[in-house]
Amino acid sequence: MPSHLPTLWLHRGRERSLRRRHPWLFSGAVARVDGDPAAGETVDLRSADGELLARAAFSPSSQIRARVWTFADEPVDEGLIARRLAAAVAARGRPAAGRPDAACRLVYAESDGLPGVIVDRYADTLVVQLLTAGAERWRATIAGLLPGVTGVRRVWERSDAEVRSLEGLEPRVGPLAGDPPPTRLEIREGRVRLLVDVHHGHKTGAYLDQRHNRARIGELADGRGVLDAFCYAGGFTVHALSGGAASVLAVDSSADALAMARANLELNGLAADRCELAEGNVFEVLRGLRDRGSSFDLIVLDPPKFAATASQRQGAARGYKDINLLAFKLLAPGGLLATFSCSGAIGGELFQSIVAGAALDAGVEAQVVERLAQGPDHPVLLSFPEAEYLKGLVCRVGG
Ligand code: SAH
Repeated sequence: MPSHLPTLWLHRGRERSLRRRHPWLFSGAVARVDGDPAAGETVDLRSADGELLARAAFSPSSQIRARVWTFADEPVDEGLIARRLAAAVAARGRPAAGRPDAACRLVYAESDGLPGVIVDRYADTLVVQLLTAGAERWRATIAGLLPGVTGVRRVWERSDAEVRSLEGLEPRVGPLAGDPPPTRLEIREGRVRLLVDVHHGHKTGAYLDQRHNRARIGELADGRGVLDAFCYAGGFTVHALSGGAASVLAVDSSADALAMARANLELNGLAADRCELAEGNVFEVLRGLRDRGSSFDLIVLDPPKFAATASQRQGAARGYKDINLLAFKLLAPGGLLATFSCSGAIGGELFQSIVAGAALDAGVEAQVVERLAQGPDHPVLLSFPEAEYLKGLVCRVGG
């Protein structure tokens, strides 16, 4: 079927991943570009034989040269974007997205058929990240559609993630619709309330991917002495204390994060005397605690991404091994270690083998009693396994 769109012609044999509905086309697969597409413009992707395989957004600066909007012969227009947004929001369901003070990821990029588009809802505010040339091309359309699709009037842009530079895009932060949000928004997460700074906070303001796992830690914390390492704004800490933890030591290297954690404790009326907030490097703090002979009944390790790419895998593995080894040494008999990795480059099996090595070297016997993952509002399209990145193990050491 002829179309008037610029066209990327693939090298012979390079259409296989598109046929499996993987939404990325790498630059090495492109034999020729017909026409002169601008960054973000819609292009046809055609096999060497001329078959139309997909319509995609062109990214001239990125190794991922095109990201698929559709595998069908249909127009890529406002109607398509509107249908994808509506489907993504509907999939989250009312219980997650319907409450006025809810927080939830509403749109998760490729997994929702909208490559490069992230939409997180924090109560009465949507926070949008546009991470690719294609997402940027549809910026005004997305901004115009979101209030109608979600019923949320205020839309704030946080397109300041590093990855934008790979697409040749400058960072951009500011209002997309409605007035700017206050610096601290209040949301409900299970049985606790949390403050979120959508202006300066990490990602779009918070780590929504850990929402369900924070609630789970709240259930496991009852009566336990807890260490929350890499605590950020104290999400795990607040859940643990509200779940009946005997005490919590929360550690982060960021003073701003700890200020937010303190505010979150106050907001929930949680006694400061059961909780100590410590500023420091977790690697050093854990060694210091070990040297002092401290012990805990529940340790949460939720470090930042140690490996951004496969080439950083080895260094990352050493980092994970170090902190997990130290944590195992700090656990009281029968204690629990909830250990996470958000590095997409470290798969679940590799992560488990790193944790196993750490237990061995720490001289403890431990069982995996639970496996945790990113929440259901961060779905993984089966044809796009790259969307899966967060994994967690709850390990119990022998008593
Ligand atoms: N558990 C948090 C998210 C943690 S994000 C939640 O559920 O919301 C990772 C955190 O680690 C960030 O707050 C960052 O400031 C902190 N961090 C990064 N490197 C660190 C280090 N070496 N020592 C202590 N904190 C560190």
